[in-house]
Amino acid sequence: MEGDKGVSYADSQGAQSPEWDVIVLGAGASGLMCAATAGYRGKRVLVIDHAPKAAAKIRISGGGKCNFTNLNVSPEHYICRNPHFVKSALSRYPSSAFIELVDRHGLTYETRELGKLFCCERASDLIQILRTECDWAGVEFLLKTEVGKVEAKHGGGFILKTSAGVFACEKLVVATGALSFPKLKASGFGYQLARQFGLEVCAQSPGLVPLTFSGKWQQRFSSLSGLSMDVVVTVEGKHFSEALLFTHHGLSGPGILQASNYWQPGKPIHINLLPGLDVYAQLLALKQSGQSLSKWLNQYWPKRFTQLWLEIFPMDSMLSNQPNEQLQAYALQIMNWQLYPDDTAGYDKAEVTLGGIDTDEVSSKTFEAKKQPGLFFIGEVLDVTGQLGGYNFQWAWASGVACGLSL
Ligand SMILES: Cc1cc2nc3c(=O)[nH]c(=O)nc-3n(C[C@H](O)[C@H](O)[C@H](O)COP(=O)(O)OP(=O)(O)OC[C@H]3O[C@@H](n4cnc5c(N)ncnc54)[C@H](O)[C@@H]3O)c2cc1C
Repeated sequence: MEGDKGVSYADSQGAQSPEWDVIVLGAGASGLMCAATAGYRGKRVLVIDHAPKAAAKIRISGGGKCNFTNLNVSPEHYICRNPHFVKSALSRYPSSAFIELVDRHGLTYETRELGKLFCCERASDLIQILRTECDWAGVEFLLKTEVGKVEAKHGGGFILKTSAGVFACEKLVVATGALSFPKLKASGFGYQLARQFGLEVCAQSPGLVPLTFSGKWQQRFSSLSGLSMDVVVTVEGKHFSEALLFTHHGLSGPGILQASNYWQPGKPIHINLLPGLDVYAQLLALKQSGQSLSKWLNQYWPKRFTQLWLEIFPMDSMLSNQPNEQLQAYALQIMNWQLYPDDTAGYDKAEVTLGGIDTDEVSSKTFEAKKQPGLFFIGEVLDVTGQLGGYNFQWAWASGVACGLSL
């Protein structure tokens, strides 16, 4: 028994140990929640993970403070081919239930804009809570363990061949997450297992990810790198009123990450650079007052952006000679700046993965695969992606608990 503080390792004699009631593959957010829930119900639970430490994504999430849930969670905050799929688990384990859990452990947290809850100190405090819950529930851990083959036994149950020996279980929960952040040991193993058992897997792509540009746009944005502006980003009819951040490769910030979940290659994103303002009316007033356009824009924008904007979209700084139609077109340009991203920054920078195991393949109540009794899939490995704001962790908690209660 050694390793990660508070986590007991099963020894290499695991192959000889009696069959486990439940093996959970993946010691991430959903796996820990599911394991603790099943453990409290008297199940003998083993969690296996190939990473050296549990819950690496929680540790680095939310800039190290983990945006662990949101005060306002509804099915509309999720992208899933079957929009009804998330309803059952989210209603049975709402964000208030997770808040109650962290309150019981004395976690200090703060509410930020749009109902986002963050740890006040460190995200690792949250990992400690989950590990404590698992300890209290008698869950055992086997970290740094590669899983090779998974086989279904005749008459029910599964055999797992791993780098630490062979393990048998009645029920197998796959909580191996998705493809984002491979440096944190993310893998597509869950999809591979799903396919092995005949389940459909929807195409995947990076989500909550910066958008990249090439050529002159990349150079322009790079020159503004680090600047942030409050805007409204619109993609495919979805509006996100959050910050935009210029980067060396293109655009990022919460507004852009949100938009990336809906952006399709070759399609534009639309940015309102002066949200809440009737820009045409303001330009008309400016024309009459004789004030300069750049001075007016500088009231709202960082000077470096105004300068670049006026280089790209030149306009005589004194509007007095401009026809109203031109002012109207200029206002529209500001309120509906259309940009064509080249690509996304990929899985290395994506917080989540869009797509995954087709939710038609699993029960929305128990998360058991319809085609393979005893096999369960939870968390991000499924075709469920939350918007930015704590929704992805809430899905991990809710699906983990719903599954754990059914084991
Ligand atoms: C940088 C970053 C910041 C984020 N910030 C937030 C945030 O603030 N709020 C929010 O709601 N969401 C956030 N997310 C998303 C959130 O982390 C995930 O949606 C959530 O962790 C998914 O939980 P999960 O249990 O499905 O998978 P994970 O938490 O990814 O856990 C999967 C586990 O499976 C293990 N595993 C993978 N493959 C194998 C294998 N072959 N064998 C054994 N084990 C394996 C992994 O090591 C990992 O421990 C962030 C993600 C990233 C990358």
